[in-house]
Amino acid sequence: MRYTITAALPYANGPVHIGHLAGVYIPADIYSRYLRLKGHDVKYICGSDEHGVPITIKAQKEGTTPQAIVDRYHNIIKNAFQEFGIAFDIYHRTSSEIHKKTSSEFFKTLYDKGLLMEKVSQQFYDSKANQFLADRYITGTCPKCQADGAYGDQCEQCGSSLNATELINPKSAITGNQPELKETKHWYLPLNEYEDFLKQWILEDHKEWKSNVYGQCKSWLDAGLQPRAVSRDLDWGVPLPIENAEGKVLYVWFDAPIGYISATKELTPDWEQYWKNEDTKLVHFIGKDNIVFHCIIFPAMLKAEGSYILPENVPANEFLNLEGDKISTSRNWAVWLHEYIEDFEGQQDVLRYVLTANAPETKDNDFTWKEFQDKNNNELLAILGNFVNRALVLTHKYYKGVVPEFDPNSLSDLDQEIIKEIPLLKRQIEKDIESYHFRAGLKNAMQIARLGNKYLAETEPWKLFKTEPEKVKNIMYIALQISASLSQALEPFLPHTTAKLRQMLNLETLDWELIGQNDILKSGHQINKAELLFSKIEDEQVQAQLDKLNQKKKENALLNAPVEEVKPNINFDDFTKIDIRVATIIAAEKVAKTKKLLKIQIDTGAEERTIVSGIAEYFKPEDLVGQQVCVVLNLEERKLKGISSQGMILTAEQPDGSLSLISPKSMVVNGSNVR
Ligand SMILES: [Zn+2]
Repeated sequence: MRYTITAALPYANGPVHIGHLAGVYIPADIYSRYLRLKGHDVKYICGSDEHGVPITIKAQKEGTTPQAIVDRYHNIIKNAFQEFGIAFDIYHRTSSEIHKKTSSEFFKTLYDKGLLMEKVSQQFYDSKANQFLADRYITGTCPKCQADGAYGDQCEQCGSSLNATELINPKSAITGNQPELKETKHWYLPLNEYEDFLKQWILEDHKEWKSNVYGQCKSWLDAGLQPRAVSRDLDWGVPLPIENAEGKVLYVWFDAPIGYISATKELTPDWEQYWKNEDTKLVHFIGKDNIVFHCIIFPAMLKAEGSYILPENVPANEFLNLEGDKISTSRNWAVWLHEYIEDFEGQQDVLRYVLTANAPETKDNDFTWKEFQDKNNNELLAILGNFVNRALVLTHKYYKGVVPEFDPNSLSDLDQEIIKEIPLLKRQIEKDIESYHFRAGLKNAMQIARLGNKYLAETEPWKLFKTEPEKVKNIMYIALQISASLSQALEPFLPHTTAKLRQMLNLETLDWELIGQNDILKSGHQINKAELLFSKIEDEQVQAQLDKLNQKKKENALLNAPVEEVKPNINFDDFTKIDIRVATIIAAEKVAKTKKLLKIQIDTGAEERTIVSGIAEYFKPEDLVGQQVCVVLNLEERKLKGISSQGMILTAEQPDGSLSLISPKSMVVNGSNVR
């Protein structure tokens, strides 16, 4: 069988996090690895999505080019995937030449067939920046939920997709100006004309799709489809390949899915086999936010073009949350893959394991560091690692690492039971993976290790070795075959671990059909040295991750706190009445029986003064001595706890109440005026 498997193109304006891995890339990787192990012809395709407005906005903000932005993130993302063993056949990019050619030819075919509508409409234009304001170039108040900061294409607060002209108080994201409306011409894909086809194809012919996917498609189709623009006024993207379309590019949602096709073209001259042959199964792995594009819009495009196959299935996942909160790039609430690799070097499979065991297959799910630790210590280490280690270490101890003789005529009931059990599990795992139930598949693959662990615990070869050494030969032989089965059955899920295990077993073959066979390693076969497959994750490591997240939460709270309104104006004379000077703190001590008060001696240049200041929670007295600060000298004297305070030390107060002293940037003479 031939398979084309695609994973959603990550957007190249930021790195990737655990939500991406859990939702799309790990499930697609498990599926691809499994099919390859079964001997199928598989192309697993992905790449960076490098067009669209968020990239040009980021480039403008950083004072660089869009190309520099996508180059940076393409490499970060590509490396992260590689580190986690995501085995794409190609990781391509949509800023490549072959993609430009493929997507503009695709557009041209639809255009030449007369399948696109041409329409002039009013769009927002920033006359100061001299450009049309597509999508995220325009912000305003959401007409549906009244949230501020909604974009021209979408409100992130309520999730509605919007037309820029619906926004209340629209503003240009470039200049902040009120934009004007100006006429511009665009091309549209009349999705409404594909409604009947889509209803038949999805709602009737693909009732087996996951219920979350089917349900979302049904509600879109029931609501009725509208023509959708396929072009944009922008200077970053694939230029429209027709005349009189200067300054217009393909809208990013139109060119991105064609990226799967151009990547396949780059990969193999036989690309048409993977996209145009009816015998090929096309499967799109995506997150739930991409369902409409992959189930409705892209199939309509493929259908319109006419020469392509349609997806067999679109097994979209729901979202993964982190410690009870929605993962968010803008709030930096995420576990970034490139950071994980630094903190947990060589432990990529642990994350693969936890994210699969806990995958958001049918509903949103939560990732917690505590569960990460538990799953590593109590499952990977205590069950899989422990079983394999016992089997290999005892083989070295008893037989110098040589697989012992096996006598099929003297099997105990336990021996016979476990030999029968594993082929049944193999069939169950196959069913699970082929129906996209990867959590269940992993659980059943781990069941092989659980059985192995139980088998050794019950047969106790270490006790039997002195009294019945012949029996132990059979036990160790069987335990080694189970280890070999694990090195195949877990390969789709834990590729680094199984590669290490096969190395230890001195087994090069990778073949799904080996699972459950009782002669994978022949008697007399020499195995290699045993090494530990997993290491314990300590409480301190988990605490360090939680501290990192708490720090982010604090930073976010500060960044998002509302800014106080400006007080009413005062005149210049009023301002000059305030006498602010630079002074040096020469002594400081806590005021007895108070929490907040410090008694501070300052040198104003002309005299020494005492000031009582409510800053004790944020500064240690000994750290203050010697510091220059700004002080209001002509404030009326006040008595605090019986001490007379002659002035006020100036501080900046953050929204969380924390204080920072106001000091001159370089040393100045005490008594200098501050104005
Ligand atoms: Zn809204």
